[in-house]
Amino acid sequence: MKTAQEYIESIRKMKFNAYILGKKEDNPADHPMVKPSLNAVAMTYELAGDPQYQELTTVVSNITGKRVNRFTHTHQSTQDLVSKVKMQRLLGQKTATCFQRCVGMDAINALSITTYEMDQDLGTEYNKRFNEFLTYVQENDLVCDGAMTDPKGDRGKRPHQQAEKDVFVHIVEEKADGIIVRGAKCHQTGALNSHEIIVMPTMSMKKEDGDFAVSFAVPSDTEGITYVFGRQPSDTRKLEGTFDVGNMNYGGQECLVIFDNVFVPWDRVFMYKEYQYSGQLVERFASYHRQSYGGCKCGVTDVLIGAAGNLAEYHGVENASHIKDKLVEMVHLNETMHACGLACSTEGKATPSGTYFVDSLLANVCKLNVTRHPYEIARIAEDIAGGLLVTMPSALDFENPEIGPIMERLYGGIEGISTQCRMRMLRLVENLTIGAGAVAYRTESMHGAGPPQAMRIMIARQADFEKKKELAKKIAGVE
Ligand code: SF4
Ligand code: FE
Repeated sequence: MKTAQEYIESIRKMKFNAYILGKKEDNPADHPMVKPSLNAVAMTYELAGDPQYQELTTVVSNITGKRVNRFTHTHQSTQDLVSKVKMQRLLGQKTATCFQRCVGMDAINALSITTYEMDQDLGTEYNKRFNEFLTYVQENDLVCDGAMTDPKGDRGKRPHQQAEKDVFVHIVEEKADGIIVRGAKCHQTGALNSHEIIVMPTMSMKKEDGDFAVSFAVPSDTEGITYVFGRQPSDTRKLEGTFDVGNMNYGGQECLVIFDNVFVPWDRVFMYKEYQYSGQLVERFASYHRQSYGGCKCGVTDVLIGAAGNLAEYHGVENASHIKDKLVEMVHLNETMHACGLACSTEGKATPSGTYFVDSLLANVCKLNVTRHPYEIARIAEDIAGGLLVTMPSALDFENPEIGPIMERLYGGIEGISTQCRMRMLRLVENLTIGAGAVAYRTESMHGAGPPQAMRIMIARQADFEKKKELAKKIAGVE
C-alpha cells in the first residue's frame, strides 16, 4: 500500500489536461484550490498506514490474498459492509469534508456484480477483464473516480434524441483493439485526485440508446480527457492563506470531465452496448453510494456538532437548557442517518458474484434522511453560532495593526478563550453551512448519489404496499 506522501507524489506525476478559474494548469495538485482536496484523499492512505485504524481501513483481498486499502476492496461479508460505513464516518471526522475515494469503491463493487451477471447470461468476459483491472488497482493502491453522471441535456429526451450528442458519454467507433468514446461526465468527485476513471452509464438505457450503454476504465491522464475544476462558495478564500477558509487543510473537489475521442482498449471495456444491464448497474452503484452517506456525512456532522458545542461554550451559553436541547437534537438527527447506514449494511446479502450487496430499501431510506438532516443540523448550528457567523470581519482585518487590537477586544467572548479561537470556530461553522464545505455537507447530501425523488422511486418499488394493505385488512377484519 502507498503512504500518503507516495500518493501525493503519484498524483503530481500525472499529466492532466486541467483548467482552474479559466486558466490551464500544468500542476493542479499543488494549486491552492486543489491542495485541500488532495489532502483529504491522502487521509485515506494515512489512516490505512496507522496501526490503530487498520482493522477498519484495510482488509485482506479475496483476489490477491494481500492486505489492501479497503477503498479498493469488494465487500465479502456484511462485516465488510459495516466496516466500510464506520471507516467513512472516521474519515469524515478527520477531514470534515468529502474525501472523494468512495465513488471508486462503490463503482468497483457495483461492477463486480454486474459484470459477473452479464458473463453468466451472455457468455461475455467482462468479469475476467474487470478482475484483472481490480488486481492492478489493489496492487498499486490506486484512487478511482467513479464516473456516472452525464450532463444529460434536455431531460425530456432520451440520449439518442439529444441535439447535442456529447451530453451523454457514447461509443463513436469500434476498432480491432478497442473503442473510441466521447461525451462528458459532470460533478465528478475527486476526478483530478484520481489515477483511474471508471465510466458507467448514467441511467437505464433502451435499445435505441445502445451506444450510450458503455462502461470502461482508463488512466485519468489519458489523451483526449480534459478537466474543468468546479467552483465552491467562498473558494477563493483558499488563495488568501488565512483561517477565514474555515477548514485550513481539507476540502472537496468536483470537476467537469470531457472525453474528446478517447481510446479505450478492449481489456478495459466492462460493458459494450448491453443496454439491458445499464439500469441494474446504475441502481447497484447508487445503492452503495446511498449507504456511503450514512457514514461520511455523519463524521462531518460530528465535527459540526463539536464546533457548535465549542461556540456555545465560547459565547458563555453552554449551560442554557435550550442550547443543550439543540445539541441533543443534532446528535439525534446524526445518529439516525448513521443507524440507517449500518442497518442497510447488516441486512446486506451475498450476490452470485460473491460480492455483498446492501439492503437497497434501507440504503435508499438512509440517503433520503441524508437529503434532509444535514439541512436541519446546519440550521441549528447557525442558530447556536449567532449572527457573527456572517458579519465578522476578515482575518486580515484582525492582523491590521490599527484596527486589529480594537477588534480583538470587541469580539472577545468568555475569559480564557482568545478572540482568534472564537473566530476560527465560527469560520468552521461558516465553511460547513454556507461556505466551501457546504458543497460536500449540504447540497451534496441533497443531490449526491441522486436527488430525493430518485430515492422515493426506489422506496416505492420496494415498499410492498400490497402486503401492508393485507396486514391491515386482517387486523380490521375486512375481507
Ligand atoms: Fe465519499 Fe461521502 Fe464524498 Fe461520496 S460524498 S465520495 S461517500 S466522502
Ligand atoms: Fe458524493
